[in-house]
Amino acid sequence: MRKIGIVGAGQAGLQLGIGLRRDGYEVVMTSNQTAAQIGDGRVTSSQCMFDRALESERRLGLDFWHDAPPVEGIQFSLVPGGNTALSWSSRLDRPGKSVDQRIKMPRWMEEFERLGGDLRIADVDKAGLEALSKECDLVVVASGKGEIGRLFERDDSRSPFDKPQRSLALTYVHGMTPRAEHSAVNFNLIPGVGEYFVFPALTLSGPCEIMVFEGLVGGPMDRWAAVTTPAEHLAESLRILREYLPDEYARAKDVTLTDDRGILAGRFAPTVRKPVLRLPSGAHALGMGDTVCLNDPITGQGANNASHCAATYHAAIVAHGNRPFDAPFMQSAFDHYWDYAQFVVAWTNNMLLPPPDHMVRILGAAQMDARIAHWFVNGFNDPRTYFPTITDPALTDAFLRRAA
Ligand SMILES: Cc1cc2nc3c(=O)[nH]c(=O)nc-3n(C[C@H](O)[C@H](O)[C@H](O)COP(=O)(O)OP(=O)(O)OC[C@H]3O[C@@H](n4cnc5c(N)ncnc54)[C@H](O)[C@@H]3O)c2cc1C
Repeated sequence: MRKIGIVGAGQAGLQLGIGLRRDGYEVVMTSNQTAAQIGDGRVTSSQCMFDRALESERRLGLDFWHDAPPVEGIQFSLVPGGNTALSWSSRLDRPGKSVDQRIKMPRWMEEFERLGGDLRIADVDKAGLEALSKECDLVVVASGKGEIGRLFERDDSRSPFDKPQRSLALTYVHGMTPRAEHSAVNFNLIPGVGEYFVFPALTLSGPCEIMVFEGLVGGPMDRWAAVTTPAEHLAESLRILREYLPDEYARAKDVTLTDDRGILAGRFAPTVRKPVLRLPSGAHALGMGDTVCLNDPITGQGANNASHCAATYHAAIVAHGNRPFDAPFMQSAFDHYWDYAQFVVAWTNNMLLPPPDHMVRILGAAQMDARIAHWFVNGFNDPRTYFPTITDPALTDAFLRRAA
């Protein structure tokens, strides 16, 4: 049986590895963290996943968290100067879900080993990749933002930003007042300051809410560098809400941290990389997930993308049968994924720029017309549906006229 080597036990690597084990492939997976280290570590994401990605997990029997609170819709609010100028919400046709990766990845590692996968703990470097390529028919690098991913060449034509566009922070909390109607991602846009979104999730201590801060770099929501303790992180989170989002502050004023590691602050530049790495020996490795397609979290798509990438590569590997996993195979597997991911990247990168007038017209129309709100909200589950409508003012206006 063919042997596949995977570097990185995250959303992408584990989903692919477990899928391939189920199809009888030998799989070696190398992780630079043990399951216990991941479980005891810091949060890394808000990991809200929508139905199409969740369906890939369900198909592999990986949906272990039926008690995770559902994300039933999305609310969008425009809040300039502390005053709500626009606010509407719509339901997702099928709910989303967020399971803390500190719970999910250790459980999936256990499942991978239960299925006979070979899990090794090591920080893979270039020599490690060479060794893996001698041992395996195919090497896939799913190392997320890990250093080794930098071996893959940046694709300048697909990476418009060379600097971080947002200062990011996460705050996992208990004790937030639930929304009055259905549960939702509450997405707030604060012009000139940044974005804040919040939604229910499952963490180590049970159901919680995850607060996500996307501050314009150097702006008033980018003060995390001065924060030194978890208590200060929570205080800074609440300061932002108190100053810019009074409605959200009212829901959040009594929250407590889920745990001292339920916080994160950082930044990175969204980057697409070329998917095929040629090693000094002439062997090749294929990049997947965040390693080759790293998006800003503003649209909550990275874990969804990683899942789609795993599903696409899984199908490509199986369809390839006994033929060699050479560089053309790798490029073609990624190209299939890019057929989808290019729309997510384009939409996400657009969301990082000041919204053009025609986007503002869509968001305004959604307030008046429930069908437009429904279209926009359900696009998070498949961002291809926004295209080409959002690319051109004439197409947007034609779409809005048709809807009316
Ligand atoms: C603040 C924030 C909020 C987010 N919110 C969302 C959201 O709501 N929805 C969403 O869909 N996405 C979200 N994301 C993005 C999402 O978390 C990632 O896109 C997703 O986890 C990527 O999966 P991956 O498998 O590619 O990489 P990762 O999940 O990063 O996994 C990579 C793994 O490889 C390991 N590794 C690294 N280097 C090596 C090495 N050399 N050897 C061995 N192992 C190695 C790492 O330790 C890690 O375990 C968010 C991200 C951030 C930063």
